[in-house]
This record gives sequence, C-alpha cells and structure tokens, in this order.
Amino acid sequence: MKRKNLIFWGFVVTAIIALAGGLLWRGGWIGKKCIASHPSFSLDQLHDKEGIVPVAIIGSGPAGLAAALYSARGGMHTVVFEGDNPGGQLMLTSWVENWPGMPKKLGKDLIASARDQARAFGALFAQETVESINTGVWPFVLKTNHGRTIHALAVIIVTGATPKRLGVPGEDRYWGKGVTTCATCDAPFYKNAEVFVVGGGDAAFEEALQLAPYASKITLLLRGDKARASVAMHERIKAYPHIHQRFNTKIVEILGDGSHVTGVVLDENKVRKEESIRGIFLGIGHAPNSALAKGKVDLDEAGYLVLRNRTQATSVKGVFAAGDVADHRYRQAGVAAGDGVKAALDTLDFLRLVNFNERLAQQMESQLFVPEGGIQRLKIADLASIEEFETLVKKHTLFVLDCYTDICPSCTQLLPALERVAFENEGRIVFYKANVNNFPTLANRLNVQTAPTVLVFKNGKVVARLMRAVPHRQLADFVNSATK
Ligand code: NDP
Repeated sequence: MKRKNLIFWGFVVTAIIALAGGLLWRGGWIGKKCIASHPSFSLDQLHDKEGIVPVAIIGSGPAGLAAALYSARGGMHTVVFEGDNPGGQLMLTSWVENWPGMPKKLGKDLIASARDQARAFGALFAQETVESINTGVWPFVLKTNHGRTIHALAVIIVTGATPKRLGVPGEDRYWGKGVTTCATCDAPFYKNAEVFVVGGGDAAFEEALQLAPYASKITLLLRGDKARASVAMHERIKAYPHIHQRFNTKIVEILGDGSHVTGVVLDENKVRKEESIRGIFLGIGHAPNSALAKGKVDLDEAGYLVLRNRTQATSVKGVFAAGDVADHRYRQAGVAAGDGVKAALDTLDFLRLVNFNERLAQQMESQLFVPEGGIQRLKIADLASIEEFETLVKKHTLFVLDCYTDICPSCTQLLPALERVAFENEGRIVFYKANVNNFPTLANRLNVQTAPTVLVFKNGKVVARLMRAVPHRQLADFVNSATK
C-alpha cells in the first residue's frame, strides 16, 4: 500500500476509535460500568449488614451541614456524626457578617439555623464521635465512641482544623472577646483600634493585611528574630506604614475587664512588661483534624486531606472531604460550606454509580442506622365515617387523605414516608387515611381507582393526586408543591 493510503486509513481508524470511545464515555457506559461492576462496590455486600448509613458525614461545621443539606435534600438517608465540638469553629466566633446574603448573625445561631435546615430535609444527627474508619473494605466501617459499628456506603470527612493557641493564662477566658484567629471575620470590629497579631508566617501577615483598612496600628509579635513569611508577603505589608513588627516578643498573659481584652503581659527580649491592647489576632498556624484519616486516605505533608481533580474526592473512591481539613488556604466558613455542597454532589454521583438509590434505602429500612430521636413521624388517624370526612375537609384549608387497602404492599411502603411528611407539616396540614374497602362510595365520588392514592385538598377541592408509593423526599416535594 502506498504511504499516502496508509496515512489516510490510519486517520480513519483513529477517528472511529476516538468517536466510539467518546460516545461510550458520554453515555456513561465506560465510567459507570467501571465503578458499578467493580466487585468491591457490589450491593450484595449489604444484605447481611446492620447499621448501614448511605451517607455518613463526619463533622458538623459549615462544611458538614451544607453537605447534609444537599445529601438529605437529594433524597439520601444521611447521618451527621456531630463529634466532640458540634458546629466547629463558628461556635467560637461572635458575629458573622461575611455570610453572603445575611447581614449579621452570631456564629452559633448561624450553625443552629443551618442544622435546622438540614434536619428539615431529613438529615439525621448522631451525638457521637467517629473514632476510627476502615476504608479498606466496602461498605466502609466506622466505629463510634458509643461502641457502635456503622457500615457507610459513602463518607464525607469534614472534621475541620483547629487554630493553634498560645496556651497562656487569659486566652480561654477572652476567646471571642478580643482574642481571635480570624481577621477576615473580625477586623471590622477593630476600627481605629490598636491590635496585636501573633506570628510571623504567611497567615499572620495575611491577618495583618486584612486588618490594615480598619485598625489604626497593627503590631506583629514574633517570638524569634525573623519572620518566615514569604517575600511576597513582606513586599505587601510595606504598603502599610501602620503595620509594625516586634521581634523576640511573646505574650505571656492576656488581661481583660471580664467582658473584653484590655491588655497583655509581654516578654520582650526577656523583659516583662504590661501593655494595653484591644485585639489579639493569632496567626500561629492551624492543625487539620485529620488523625482519623491518617493512613486511610492520602494526606499532604502538613496533614491536610488531598483532593482529586477539582472535586471533593479523596484518594479512596467513596470517601470525600470538605472544609478546613482539606483546605489550608482559604479557611472561610463560606468556602467550607461551598465545598460541603460539592462533596454532597460528588457523593450522590458516587452512590448513583454503585446503583444505590432512595428506593433501595427504603427497602432496607430495618438495616439502616437511625440515631436516637432520629426520624420523627406523626401517626395518621383512620377516617371513621363519611360525615367525619365532610367535616374535616370543610374545616381544614389543607387536608391530605391517603386512600389505601389492607393488602396492598405499596400502601404499606408509602405510610412511613407519609407519616414523616405529616410530622414535618404538623400544624399546617391535616393528614388522614381511609381504607377504601370501608368507603366504596367515597372512593367512587373522589374518583379513586387504585391504591394507594394520596389526595391533597385545598379549600375542600382536590388539587393534586399521587397514585403510587414514592420515597419520602419525593412525597414531601409533592405535598409541599400542592399546598404552597
Ligand atoms: P507557619 O507554620 O508558616 O507559621 C507559623 C508562625 O507562627 C511562625 O512565625 C511561628 O514562629 C509562629 N508561632 C508558632 N507557634 C507559636 C507560638 N506558640 N507563639 C508565637 N508564635 C508562634 O503557619 P501559617 O499558618 O502562617 O502558614 C501555613 C501554610 O499556609 C504555609 O505554607 C503558608 O505559606 C500557607 N499560607 C499561605 C497564605 C497565602 O498564600 N495567602 C496565607 C496563609 C497561609 P516561628 O517562625 O518562630 O516558628
């Protein structure tokens, strides 16, 4: 064959292979098959397990709560293991005024409303700490401090980081009352005030730069005789003549009037002195809370979890991470929450790829782990008579009637989900159920021809009807949109 022909046919064959590969990939066949048919992710491995959690979230700061919101709203049975410090670092902050769309809120109130929001979508909260995780088996095995064994299909690690502290007298007492680790959050509270920033690394310099537009004088206190911050940071602070550095200086005690910091005792070149100051910003480093993940997923040299390809995936398939445990750079609640959302979306994708879904979760309900006080349901009363129906439907603007029969499996399947929705709407919508075998005329009048049929009444009129069993989230969406 001539050289020209060879090149031509070479092109054609390559193009066909590329096209076919592209189509398979776009159709999801290659990627999906890869995981779903992977023996280690076979759903058969669940049949003899108890304490199953489809989405286990370890940690309950902004990243964990955002992940919980998206995962539960995505219809997945989601359990948040709240850990030793529920709510994370925001619980230690006073005012948060850099949460987009919300002018000002106390850190603890922000956490409480994020928790309530996730809970309203069905996220469950276990007041337990995960002490160990085995990522070498699937489902992953988690052990909690209550001696519980959890089999998790997917895990989101959001254990945060702990800002390092000085460990001097007065520090705990005035934490959040003049002593802080977040200039981005708290700088505006120090307008025209003199402040100290402790540390000489990039983080401390960054704190000083954040404070520059607000504070009248910023003094970096360095325990040694030089700053380890980068050349770029040194250049940046030169633009602000009110940022100073004091070397060989340590804080040995923090003083206050009971409600706020008023001063410090310093050790400067081994000489003790007392000085007045209003704010102390610590920039002495963070320690990621990654002990749990050590040896289980890849960590970087500083102990932060390593993420893959701009996703929240760790080095182990099915294990995701978000927030400060995987982010040494931004360390903002808003960033953590955004990453939490991404982690939940990645997790839902993963569960789809292993062919797990909400319907399966419902079928294996008895095997699922539900924390104490977990899923709350409201018992739905049975209709006693047609007269009672007439009274109820007239009296209540929003009324839901579940028409069922005794022997219908879908009706049995639907009821627990409906009881959850009834609980979530208690005081707003009245729920009843009617065994249609006892009320043939009513069923006929309401045009009910199959069981189950859920009827939603608004001002006495049927505004929506559902004629099959659906999982809780879908049912909640159906009822909510019909009663808006
Ligand atoms: P570093 O470890 O770089 O610096 C910590 C600083 O705190 C050092 O100056 C250290 O002093 C001081 N320090 C530690 N313990 C004490 C103590 N008990 N009392 C007083 N001073 C103390 O941590 P960073 O958080 O600054 O940075 C961590 C990583 O994150 C770095 O790689 C950094 O480059 C990066 N980073 C980057 C940023 C950016 O690019 N914008 C912003 C923030 C961090 P000594 O030097 O004497 O040990």
